[in-house]
Amino acid sequence: MDKKDVIQEGIKEILKNLKDISFEDQTVLVTGGAGFLGSWLCDVLVEQNAKVICLDNLASGLETNISHLLDREDFKFIKHDISQPIYFDEKIDIVMHLASRASPLEFDKFPIQIIKANTLGTWISLGIAKKHKAKLLFTSTSEVYGDAQVIPTPETYNGNVNPVGIRGCYDESKRVGEAMCMAYARQHGLDVKIARIFNTYGPRMRADGVYGRVIPRFVHQALNNEPITIFGDGKQTRSFCYVTDQIEGLLRLAWFDSARGQVVNIGNPKEMTILELAEIVKEITNSNSPLEFHPLPPDDPKRRCPDISKARKLLKWDPKIELEEGLKKTIEWFKLMKFDKN
Ligand code: UDP
Repeated sequence: MDKKDVIQEGIKEILKNLKDISFEDQTVLVTGGAGFLGSWLCDVLVEQNAKVICLDNLASGLETNISHLLDREDFKFIKHDISQPIYFDEKIDIVMHLASRASPLEFDKFPIQIIKANTLGTWISLGIAKKHKAKLLFTSTSEVYGDAQVIPTPETYNGNVNPVGIRGCYDESKRVGEAMCMAYARQHGLDVKIARIFNTYGPRMRADGVYGRVIPRFVHQALNNEPITIFGDGKQTRSFCYVTDQIEGLLRLAWFDSARGQVVNIGNPKEMTILELAEIVKEITNSNSPLEFHPLPPDDPKRRCPDISKARKLLKWDPKIELEEGLKKTIEWFKLMKFDKN
């Protein structure tokens, strides 16, 4: 199996699950289109015969995620920072705003870029949607809940966020982004949808250096028999959604008119501790990596698990891929990848 086959298999799965939901002939602008989730969206949309304009400043996205699409007539890549204005001649039907760094390990290095992508970038995206009378999907985050005190967390929970903490740049700018979307919906009647994305993993996630989120880091460490770095005592929890489930959920949200003006959690509700995750990764990779304990980063949420009743009802969506199955696919992909650790 080759890297492309792992992605192709995932795209097929998404297309099958979307059934008659299709973006054929729609012109879709995807900001952050060269990123982990953005590039999966571009792939599925192109496969559905949509016209895709992929915008990315390649700050954390990778050209290699979309290089296979560059020759296609229905795909255009523009290297651009969405926090700066940009104008399009062709009519845009849907704006999907994903652009933003999202790894906690980058929050202290690039806080201003992160705030700009989610505030100015959302503002520019909304301006484009308004001008083109297009729909807009904003990808927000479970981080708007901060250290949630209600688990599983429903959309009605208003959050417990430290605005001046290390995560404030991400959490608060996503919160402003959500407020901006609702302001454009109320004042200009814009058709907006907000997805609160919970931890998502899978092929194309970056494992190198500071970009690494917990799953690619653990997989990389386990495959190289390096120590697995557990932050804190590892008893904090997360709920991990495989990328094909996430992309299906996002496209369903973008598609259903009944979700207009709504905010919807998209994630997998199976909660586990980081220690449990480390053990599963070790088992699947057959690794003898020792566990190595490091200090817990400040404001690291103690528990995270989505209540997805709203998505189930509104989008007729449920995640299908169990963690073990998703991890096996992810591990396979990382084995096929050559990546450098900075
Ligand atoms: N984590 C860890 N070791 C690592 C990286 C992350 O124990 O090498 C923990 C991190 O402290 C957090 C969880 O794994 O509790 C998930 O981290 P991630 O960076 O994926 O994103 P978060 O869910 O915190 O936004």
